[in-house]
Amino acid sequence: MIPISLPVRSTTDVSCEGCGACCRTMGYPVGYYAIINQGYSLAWPDDDGTLTIMRRMPKQLFTELRRQMRINDAAGIDRGSRDLPCVWLDPQTMRCKHYEYRPGICRDFEVGTRFCLDWRKTFSVGADLAKATA
Ligand code: SF4
Ligand code: SF4
Repeated sequence: MIPISLPVRSTTDVSCEGCGACCRTMGYPVGYYAIINQGYSLAWPDDDGTLTIMRRMPKQLFTELRRQMRINDAAGIDRGSRDLPCVWLDPQTMRCKHYEYRPGICRDFEVGTRFCLDWRKTFSVGADLAKATA
């Protein structure tokens, strides 16, 4: 799960290009499963704008996301618990396929922060950053 709190330090020496480390265990766009499939839409606090962003998602995209959730659920695949990649992570580019509609927590997560560097380290992205994380 992506940490919500702010970083203690950051570096500008990293790029998201070809990384996607912070998306590789999310299962779905963070929060959307709970809102769409677990009935949290009314109770969602929306302090990070996630619900608002989701509501302006194109209907086709929303329908496709819900379809993927239902297919996975029917197959007994709990993507979040299994630490599977977010369904919006493009495996070729390792970038978000629907960046404009990514939820609030994904927007708040900053490149180059301690948490970002930790994710990169977990997936051995940019091993040359050892100095920056020391
Ligand atoms: S881990 Fe950091 S560099 Fe990699 S995609 Fe996430 S924010 Fe970008
Ligand atoms: S919605 Fe996009 S940015 Fe957020 S976890 Fe999924 S691929 Fe990553």
